Amino acid sequence: MGKKIVIIGGGVAGLSAGIYGKLNGFDTEIIEMHSVTGGQCTAWKRKGYRFDYCLHWLVGTRNGPFNDIWKETGVLNNAVEIIDHDIHTTIYDASGREFIIYTSLDRWEKYLCSFAPEDTEAIRRMCRDMRKSAFLSPYSDPPGLRNPLRSAVSLFKMWPVMMLFIKYGRKNTKVYFEKLKFKNPVLLSFFDSMYGSRDFSALAFIMMFAWFNQKNAGYLIGGSLPMAERMTEKFLQLGGKLTSKKKVAKIIVENKEAKGVILEDGTRVDADYVISAADGHHTIFDMLEGKFLSPKFTNAYENWELFTPLVQVSYGLGKVFPSGSPVNMHLDKAAQIGKTTTENGYSFMNYQFDPTMAPEGKSVIVMRYESPWENWKNMTREEYAAEKEQILKDATMYLEKHYPGITSFIEETDVATPLTDVRYTGVWKGAYEGFMPSSKNLMDNLPPQLPGLKKFYMAGQWLFPGGGLPPAGQSGKWAIQYVCKEEKRKFSVG
Ligand SMILES: Cc1cc2nc3c(=O)[nH]c(=O)nc-3n(C[C@H](O)[C@H](O)[C@H](O)COP(=O)(O)OP(=O)(O)OC[C@H]3O[C@@H](n4cnc5c(N)ncnc54)[C@H](O)[C@@H]3O)c2cc1C
Repeated sequence: MGKKIVIIGGGVAGLSAGIYGKLNGFDTEIIEMHSVTGGQCTAWKRKGYRFDYCLHWLVGTRNGPFNDIWKETGVLNNAVEIIDHDIHTTIYDASGREFIIYTSLDRWEKYLCSFAPEDTEAIRRMCRDMRKSAFLSPYSDPPGLRNPLRSAVSLFKMWPVMMLFIKYGRKNTKVYFEKLKFKNPVLLSFFDSMYGSRDFSALAFIMMFAWFNQKNAGYLIGGSLPMAERMTEKFLQLGGKLTSKKKVAKIIVENKEAKGVILEDGTRVDADYVISAADGHHTIFDMLEGKFLSPKFTNAYENWELFTPLVQVSYGLGKVFPSGSPVNMHLDKAAQIGKTTTENGYSFMNYQFDPTMAPEGKSVIVMRYESPWENWKNMTREEYAAEKEQILKDATMYLEKHYPGITSFIEETDVATPLTDVRYTGVWKGAYEGFMPSSKNLMDNLPPQLPGLKKFYMAGQWLFPGGGLPPAGQSGKWAIQYVCKEEKRKFSVG
């Protein structure tokens, strides 16, 4: 066995690092503070219902480097059913007007042109950009370990899309829509409602639609929890050690090398390498006491915008409520749910497409809305209990508004807040996907190492603006590739 790697955190990034660590012959231990693995990729079981917290779409369900990772880590196998929705989301504005986002670009283009014939040219240009961005393929190897010939081939393949990079790599959606010169105010207001009101990367927006169009960002039947369970099973089958319900308090550093970790109960766990797949801010500023920083990290944690936390209200229903769209978004800027005024509206995800979420003949609907961290950070226990009660009342009123008569079928409910996410995963300020991909940072991933600290790597969503499951899985793999390089071992995927 030889060298030991300690991995802090058993979310998707930590599980990925654990699996690749074992595949490469390391003595590998994951230390997870919660009783279950998966981190934010999780679900709650309640009286026969499963309330999913994460998975809407998983980039890499069909092909490419992310697909390799999902197969190598047990996320995808022949028994896992993948579905590709025809409709991504249906949006309703305050006056009840409907706007559909189709996943097929041909179909969406046709729909958009009939929605706003005066914008036909701009719509065609946008859809062309989206189709072109399909040439963008993520790198399979990390920076510094890329085969020059393979990199050259990849670059060559990406050539058609280089202009998109140059034009929109550092622009946001607002600028992008302005450049396209859309005229129809209703169309523009729907685009704006998606991402236009914030500094959201134009390139991230464009690429997202290419993945859907390629059917390479599907949904896995069963959702988040079974996905995390499959990864955990693979890690344990390979002989990995999982220590749950133990929180890492400090990373031991001696002579500028990570030497292991100290748990909150004082236990010392020695290691040859430490990989932190826990929250980025917690790792850098608590476990390492802010001693290893570079201007790039300082700038990111001080200035980059974070994802606004979410509140999720889940309903187990004694009946199936058919819906043509998996997600219905209501742009009600004035809706009041608890203390939050829903500036970006609220959505209902109707899980009728996944029969594993509820007993036969029953169903699950989940409401989600953004609620800024400021609403939550100083709440007392009493205020919190009252707020959850109020949220349930208000949310149910909106549910009833959109599904008349539904209230009498509610059998089970659950309210998960930004504080729930922080309590169970330690995610900084409830920013469930880390840094928002913006005009400033989409091209600026953070490095996995900190200056002046050897034998230490980071993995997880906080290294890649935009976050999500694919970067989490990939960063775990990359961390082990770096360790293999240090150990002069040929990296293997099993
Ligand atoms: C509502 C919602 C919907 C989402 N939808 C999607 C989607 O459709 N597609 C997608 O790709 N992504 C989605 N995401 C984002 C995705 O869930 C995250 O980006 C991803 O799970 C992050 O993985 P991670 O391993 O980097 O971090 P985390 O999941 O945050 O894992 C960190 C782990 O470290 C543990 N930990 C923290 N501190 C310590 C410590 N001191 N000691 C020990 N353990 C510690 C935590 O308990 C946790 O298990 C969604 C997230 C949410 C909340």
